[in-house]
Amino acid sequence: MASNLSFVLNKPNDVTFEERPVPKLQSPHDVLVAVNYTGICGSDVHYWQHGAIGHFVVKDPMVLGHESAGTVVEVGAAVTTLRPGDRVALEPGYPCRRCANCLAGRYNLCPDMVFAATPPIDGTLTGFWVAPADFCYRLPDGVSLQEGALIEPLAVAVHIVRQARVQPGQSVVVMGAGPVGLLCAAVARAFGASKVVSVDIVQSKLDFARSFAATHTYLSQRVPAEENARRIVAEAELGAGADAVIDASGAEPSIQASLHVVKVGGTYVQGGMGKADINFPIMALCLKEVTARGSFRYGSGDYKLAIELVATGKIDVKRLINGVVAFKDAEEAFKKVKEGQVIKILIAGPNEKVDQSS
Ligand SMILES: [Zn+2]
Ligand SMILES: [Zn+2]
Repeated sequence: MASNLSFVLNKPNDVTFEERPVPKLQSPHDVLVAVNYTGICGSDVHYWQHGAIGHFVVKDPMVLGHESAGTVVEVGAAVTTLRPGDRVALEPGYPCRRCANCLAGRYNLCPDMVFAATPPIDGTLTGFWVAPADFCYRLPDGVSLQEGALIEPLAVAVHIVRQARVQPGQSVVVMGAGPVGLLCAAVARAFGASKVVSVDIVQSKLDFARSFAATHTYLSQRVPAEENARRIVAEAELGAGADAVIDASGAEPSIQASLHVVKVGGTYVQGGMGKADINFPIMALCLKEVTARGSFRYGSGDYKLAIELVATGKIDVKRLINGVVAFKDAEEAFKKVKEGQVIKILIAGPNEKVDQSS
């Protein structure tokens, strides 16, 4: 069989390639998938740099990666929905299916979640991946495997925008124009928002946001949060404030501005992850009766909708891909993401030939 070369994080800033045994199906409901492309997430970079995110600490060597698409090569005896040769987007977290959260349809909050590249679970930067068939989503003919690798961050954005309950005709402010912020802006447009304002501290990111999905942009200034909020409302003509504000930055000043830019009775969703504790304008939350929600990963129907949005041409995720590197150059790709040189860069699977000109 082909290579199961894997990209392993030993400890912060120490990665190696390891030829590991090809995994075996663990249940008749599993499928074996050859990984074709994997995107790099901020969380992967964070583990690579720091070895931990919150209470998730890398203690033993761990394979990185969780934003992948691949090709089914083997199916378990009970699998009826997939066949060898099917191209699939991999949803990389597997809940217990039995706890109260799972049974309530909120499986992303399962306490026993087994999630790729969240210690101690290995990730998808590997040759072959075993997954339950119902967490592998077949890509329609018009959706490429490279686009398939973008379904994971798009599903994150779908979940966030669903948490914001965005309705047609509404105004939405999105703090942060990184990959997830850009995708939130695009999903909000697809949900019918008539105004979508992207906010960031980097002008070039805003220029891209404007060409990608945002109807308005605002370059955040070093002024008090209330003043940034006042300028956003004035420049984007949001009247009494935004119907919904999404934070996809995790940055304290953005979160503070969010509570001042949202309208009375509006909705605020925390998608970005930054510092664990911040100075939060809780009086604004109270006086405006703002509905505030968190958003974590993705749940029922989010992957399905993400694929629909790409398949129907409503969101062109290809535009976020700045390049594809061969598996042996995985560490280079991580450096580019860390230095902010790219929006998304894909790492080809170890068995994938890469056209270096693309
Ligand atoms: Zn991710
Ligand atoms: Zn569960």
